Amino acid sequence: KSAFSVIKPAPPVEIFHMIKLFQDDKDPKKVNLSVGAYRTDEGKPYVLPIIKKCEKELVNDPKLNHEYLPILGDPQYRKLAMELLLGKDNCAIIEERVLPIQTISGTGAVRVGCDFLAKCMKRRVAYCSNPTWENHFGICRTAGFKKVKGYTYWNPKKRNLAICKLLSELAEAPEGSVVILHASAHNPTGTDPSRKQWKQIAEVMKSRNLFPFFDTAYQGFASGDIDRDAWPVRYFIKEGFELLAAQSFSKNMGLYCERAGCLVLVLNDKKHIPNVASQLTLLVRQNYSNPPAHGIRLVTKVLGCEENRCEWASTVKKMSSRIKEMRKALSEKLVELETPGKWDHIVKQIGMFSFTGLKPQHAEKLINDKHIYMLKSGRINVCALTTKNVEYVAQSINEVVK
Ligand code: PLP
Repeated sequence: KSAFSVIKPAPPVEIFHMIKLFQDDKDPKKVNLSVGAYRTDEGKPYVLPIIKKCEKELVNDPKLNHEYLPILGDPQYRKLAMELLLGKDNCAIIEERVLPIQTISGTGAVRVGCDFLAKCMKRRVAYCSNPTWENHFGICRTAGFKKVKGYTYWNPKKRNLAICKLLSELAEAPEGSVVILHASAHNPTGTDPSRKQWKQIAEVMKSRNLFPFFDTAYQGFASGDIDRDAWPVRYFIKEGFELLAAQSFSKNMGLYCERAGCLVLVLNDKKHIPNVASQLTLLVRQNYSNPPAHGIRLVTKVLGCEENRCEWASTVKKMSSRIKEMRKALSEKLVELETPGKWDHIVKQIGMFSFTGLKPQHAEKLINDKHIYMLKSGRINVCALTTKNVEYVAQSINEVVK
């Protein structure tokens, strides 16, 4: 008998299961609306031109080698990533009370951050938005919070933010709980709080002494403007919060497999930074020891040169405009086909995703009968729509909901 016979199968990770089904599907009409990755209007993965240019420079740079990076990452990259999120002139940066550490993309930043909060800061309870990127719940549990709870985020009837419930649930959270917030382009709902609502959230969090942990995987994708999308994090700092923020360059630089991320810790007193850094060093050392270099070298080249950075910002704007056009096209086609229900929310939502309101049975039919792959929650990746497939997708949705 094998020692491994005790192992039971784990449930598949829905998104990677969809990718596999999509790859195995031979139908030419197939569309993958599941994975959160940008696509061109030809439905192809997109390597940003500025990344291509910087990659050529890297390959030809005789100074580079494959020595280990420091455990907490490359200092120049960490500084540039921090400045991108907080803004160069942020008071916390000027007062030297920010500690950015390089991580294995956004997921790694969320994981190291949760490990630190649960193990080193002894926080017992973590709150994730309900719904959220499904990995938040799993990471929080694995990190060792005693309780992992959801706070209501979505009103499915009105298809908008359930702000009253959100505020009242946070008002009842045990003091000191960690609250994971999506800084912009909420995954999966495509719906962010307004500035007025963020202020209300900050107020209730302050009154309950809750600890904010921002997840920033889509900076630039909500409004098309890198700085504007960072507003909630900057606002919380202005309001005097200490916080953590998990940053990812997967989406806004198209560096998915390169795992370029950063965990930004904002303290109210710089004297604690050496102790915090020493504990993080141990956490990372015992986990993966040293972060990878290729992706962050590209990010450093882009952010470290004004000309490159401007080109990147304008590409992000273009990507976000294409998404907006696809939202409009899908919603207009559904209305034109007199598809039962209302579809204006597709245009109102922001970022990569639309929370369509389609039910699990609709998703199942789209997958099985129409070769259109999406999540059971009804979330679609709007980036995967193109001028060529949007009509087919609209017709298919129309058929399954009728
Ligand atoms: N956080 C959110 C909300 C996400 O949607 C994602 C990716 O889909 C991530 C974090 C992590 O992405 P990565 O690990 O590729 O940076």
